Amino acid sequence: MNKQDKNNRPSNFIRNIILEDLKANKHGGKVITRFPPEPNGYLHIGHAKSIVMNFGFAQEFNGRCHLRFDDTNPTKEEQEYVDAIMEDVRWLGYDWGEHLYYASDYFDRFYEYAEQLIKIGKAFVCDLSPEEIRAYRGTLTEPGRESPYRNRSIDENLDLFRRMKAGEFQDGKRVLRAKIDMASGNLNMRDPVIYRIMHVPHHRTGDKWCIYPMYDFAHCLSDSIEGITHSLCSLEFEDHRPLYDWFLDVLEVECHPQQIEFARLNLTYTILSKRKLIRLVEEGVVSGWDDPRMPTISGMRRRGLPPAGIRNFCERIGVAKKESVVDVALLEHCVREELNKTAPRVMGVLNPLKVVIENYPEGQEEELEAVNNPEDPSYGTRMVPFSREIFIEQTDFMEDPPKKFFRLAPGREVRLRYAYFITCTDVIKDEKTGKIVELRCTYDPATKGGNAPDGRKVKGTIHWVSTRHAFEAEVRLYDRLFEHPHPDRAAQDGRTYMDFLNPNSLKILKGCKLEPSLKDLEPGKVVQFERIGYFCADSKDSRPGSPVFNRTVTLRDTWGKIEKRFRKKNNRKQA
Ligand code: ATP
Ligand code: MG
Repeated sequence: MNKQDKNNRPSNFIRNIILEDLKANKHGGKVITRFPPEPNGYLHIGHAKSIVMNFGFAQEFNGRCHLRFDDTNPTKEEQEYVDAIMEDVRWLGYDWGEHLYYASDYFDRFYEYAEQLIKIGKAFVCDLSPEEIRAYRGTLTEPGRESPYRNRSIDENLDLFRRMKAGEFQDGKRVLRAKIDMASGNLNMRDPVIYRIMHVPHHRTGDKWCIYPMYDFAHCLSDSIEGITHSLCSLEFEDHRPLYDWFLDVLEVECHPQQIEFARLNLTYTILSKRKLIRLVEEGVVSGWDDPRMPTISGMRRRGLPPAGIRNFCERIGVAKKESVVDVALLEHCVREELNKTAPRVMGVLNPLKVVIENYPEGQEEELEAVNNPEDPSYGTRMVPFSREIFIEQTDFMEDPPKKFFRLAPGREVRLRYAYFITCTDVIKDEKTGKIVELRCTYDPATKGGNAPDGRKVKGTIHWVSTRHAFEAEVRLYDRLFEHPHPDRAAQDGRTYMDFLNPNSLKILKGCKLEPSLKDLEPGKVVQFERIGYFCADSKDSRPGSPVFNRTVTLRDTWGKIEKRFRKKNNRKQA
């Protein structure tokens, strides 16, 4: 668990840097951040961490956050992803206002900067093949070798670079490289490639370009062009920072943003890499990017995770400089915390068992008042129909109950939530299979609303629906996509993360019986089925009057338990 700051937030070294900068009036007291996704896949919970941080700091310090598509590699990027990313950032609750940018809009300026580099003798056109460049690069222990083309004249370089741009050469024939230091201890500084030839149309610039800038060149310049003050990126770019600074130092730029690295989010039982997630989609392991089991923002939205819960999770995990793995139970905990406040309570029976209340008059029915949200009286109440025949959960009855089972059993009395006390008088079984098919009960009319006037107590309260009024629906029970807590780490000896999929990550229940108020639940809305969990009306497969439900999370809060134990231990220590 993270240390907390004065405002009870997890400590955050980036916030501290920004505070120092503001104090020193660096960047003119401004805070301008950016979220720079590459549109080559859908956003996932790891991106959410970056979004919450970048947009969060902008909000906190009265600055602004740009949404910038880092679209410099046309082979993998598509408009579909651009649209999905915008939808996801908005859904998470953030607004970039007019500050929507595309690195591809800067292609002309990047090109000018590249010529500038050539003109000051800091870049050269290299004819080595990609394999040769790799071989010349050296290793961590051995210096690299200089390219034989390194000392071309400025004029020759300019001429060749212009001809690269004009499309005279085939892919891979030539590249533009920065001229830095082949003996540098940092491999990124060994004359890195900054432009390559790719005769590939771009989803925004079409056929205009056949040379494209590399990430390291394009990224720092995009940041600089936009006047970014704090450029937050994940730890794997730490070794690229000298290069980031080198370009901005040698070129004539107006703004030199500060790159700050932080540890990526890793989650147990989860894979967070677009490349790997794509494989799950392409091989049909999941139904798509928005499959409710996916850690994508669209998957989480479809599963019913509330944006506020995700934001809260991102705040609580804080930001560190060291890689770690966060327990997915914490995410689920934050989701429950939010849904507990916002999800209306309803009754639904997933595995129905019929109960006939023998002393309730046939043909009679009544409406009983039920509380919509005990956490928030403003949700009010609703009326739930009751009649002689109801369904209860199969697991709420045991013919031969063990000691701690307080629900229904032969001869035992329980409370029907919001209704009456009932007592089980008879168990009816299928003659052939011996399976219990129906229960016979009696009810006590004096216990209406769930309290006995004589003060007698029952130990169990169970949920129910009236058979005549309930409607049938499909309910999808989702579980973790991977059965191994660290599918990436476990992948060794020829096994990959694909070998650790959870075969029970989806269980489809048909014939669930739900209270009538749910019939017209709006797709995307989340409710709590009392005693079972939170469920969301699926936004793709629900039809008017016939919703399909996704289980968002169960009610079992493993993280809550961990925290409780932690607190107890601490209290004991302090005592
Ligand atoms: P992936 O590894 O999943 O393919 P990526 O880093 O290639 O992700 P980008 O589109 O380049 O994806 O990322 C946009 C921003 O989101 C970057 O600033 C990146 O650092 C950040 N980001 C990506 N994954 C994570 C993560 N797991 N935790 C925190 N930030 C992340
Ligand atoms: Mg990337």
